[in-house]
Amino acid sequence: MSAAPLDLAELEPTELTAAVVARGGQPFNARQMARWIYRRGVTDFERMTDLPAALRATLAGDCACSTPTVLRADRSADGTAKLLLRLADGLRVEAVFIPDTPRMTFCVSTQVGCAMQCGFCLTGRMGLARHLSAGEIAAQVRVLSRRFELAGAAFNVVLMGMGEPLHNYDATMKALRILTDPHGLAMRPQRITLSTVGVLPALERLAGESLMPNLAVSLHAATDELRNELVPINRKHGLDALLAACRRFPVARRRRITFEYVLLAGVNDAPADARRLARLLAGLRSKVNVIPLNEAPGVPYRRPSDAQIDRFARTLAAHGATVTVRKSRGRDIRAACGQLIVDGPQRSTAQQLATALGGS
Ligand code: SAH
Repeated sequence: MSAAPLDLAELEPTELTAAVVARGGQPFNARQMARWIYRRGVTDFERMTDLPAALRATLAGDCACSTPTVLRADRSADGTAKLLLRLADGLRVEAVFIPDTPRMTFCVSTQVGCAMQCGFCLTGRMGLARHLSAGEIAAQVRVLSRRFELAGAAFNVVLMGMGEPLHNYDATMKALRILTDPHGLAMRPQRITLSTVGVLPALERLAGESLMPNLAVSLHAATDELRNELVPINRKHGLDALLAACRRFPVARRRRITFEYVLLAGVNDAPADARRLARLLAGLRSKVNVIPLNEAPGVPYRRPSDAQIDRFARTLAAHGATVTVRKSRGRDIRAACGQLIVDGPQRSTAQQLATALGGS
């Protein structure tokens, strides 16, 4: 029996070069391949016409370049598009294309499901089926950029799809090395935002990386009491420790840490909450992204009124915070924040969920 093919989609630039050289190619052949795979979306080695024929044949013999298949594409009235992707083992994840915000943005997943169990997030209801590999994370960008014909264009990537990127640290960082390969998609790290609930040891590790994405921290509450309830990992890593780590985090010049704050009617949207939040963030180079809750069946919270959202944002600003209110995109196709979920028989957790949601 022959060994399983080597999956080139899982390789970062140095590894791809080593694999090509081991098959008799030259390092520059690896750079040519990165262009084919990431800029032109070609994964069939025979079609990589500038490679030597012998190398193409060798690659075809013992390598593959796996790419998730698009099972479904939904387009929202506002232009947002959600892709349901099938991975090699049959599990599925979602990835979202958000046009002009002001730049094109791809929102990608880092796990199938999520273990964090935040009280208002549908993805958490699935539980964690498994981590995504680096190749699977990067391939979502490859698929999206091909489908929306943006391979040569400047776009942003936000790791805000399904999953907690810092719970899947090594694969996430490797995916960033793939996405920033100058011969592939050549993304600038400043165009990538990693969003986390604040898995502390991993956040400290990220602080020491040379490849540094923008950081967004899902805060959602300004007291431990409330955050323990909304974001269960807070029971392990509380607000003091999280904010201390953020204060130590090396934020590049002219950059800030974004704090995401899902606004829940009657729970965390009072002026006193805004004042407390502003106080917590005082002196931190930060901005607050207020995200009015996207309601969903089975989520036991309500979205505040527009007036309440406005009052909260104004109170924050009046107390010195920089504030933006996130416009919800793609709600009609359930592509908005916290609405990514793959239903149907994926794992037993997903089936339980379907029951819990009354089959919606
Ligand atoms: N696990 C990471 C990455 C997911 S990002 C994190 O939590 O940061 C998704 C963002 O959408 C997070 O800020 C999350 O808290 C927010 N979100 C989750 N459910 C939501 C909902 N129902 N409405 C609005 N935002 C939600």
